[in-house]
Amino acid sequence: MNQKPVVLIVDDATLNLQALAHILKNDYTIKIAHSGEKAIELAKQDPFPEVILLDVEMPHMDGYAVCEYLQNTNETSSIPVIFVTGKDSREEEERGLSLGAVDYITKPLHPSIIKARLRTHITLKHQHDLLKTVAMRDQLTGLYNRHYLTDILIRKVTYAIRHEEPLSAILIDIDYFKSINDTYGHLVGDDVLREIAGLIERNARSEDVAARFGGEEFILLLHGCDGDNAVKKGEFLRQEIEGHYPVGIDVTASFGVVQFDETMETCTHFLDCADQALYQAKKEGRNKVIAYKNH
Ligand SMILES: [Mg+2]
Repeated sequence: MNQKPVVLIVDDATLNLQALAHILKNDYTIKIAHSGEKAIELAKQDPFPEVILLDVEMPHMDGYAVCEYLQNTNETSSIPVIFVTGKDSREEEERGLSLGAVDYITKPLHPSIIKARLRTHITLKHQHDLLKTVAMRDQLTGLYNRHYLTDILIRKVTYAIRHEEPLSAILIDIDYFKSINDTYGHLVGDDVLREIAGLIERNARSEDVAARFGGEEFILLLHGCDGDNAVKKGEFLRQEIEGHYPVGIDVTASFGVVQFDETMETCTHFLDCADQALYQAKKEGRNKVIAYKNH
């Protein structure tokens, strides 16, 4: 059974809240807030609203301020906001839409119109969420893809600099993958990639990022982790992979480890250092973990 979509209704007037809730209660799970501050609190709480119906005129924090805050906050920016108001002026409507609201409904309320518009915006949101997932994930392994990694890496590096916390990366490349493909075929090769990806993901903490970086290359970004601990983690993963035998095949991998430091001027440089260490691991016979040395 599909659960009903959650709608958050925000209005300082109880009668308005009741009128909207009455129209929507059969089709939606309703959350209600009497103030802008409460609306923000509920927007961040599970079950998360899939759409917010927002009154414009409220004391303290009005609907425009709430909308602006939600749009500029990461965790709430993708929730569509529909203004519901007695104001019926073009300037007010333009203001609402310019703040990122998806729609503007003026009173008196027509139940069938409200229902139809909500359905449309919820469908659009679902499609948008799905596209976002598809755009972020590698289709074969389900790990994050390189595009997403590039995006998150900038944020992780910025965070590490601001909070003076360590950040490390492990670049992982399956050894002799071409010969696995040549010997067993591409379908088996794909199974190997999926199993190794699953193994890496299971060993990542929730604050880490595991991504498929290229063909048989993976990356693990370790939040708050220094180089020494990253090497230990790499060595653990190396042994796990060596003992795993995906689809019964003897598989090993090589590892390049690097800790970010501020002399690395770009994210690309940071990854290049991991790549240099990985190259060294390959050169020294594979199935090895090598840390990048800055000299
Ligand atoms: Mg009001």
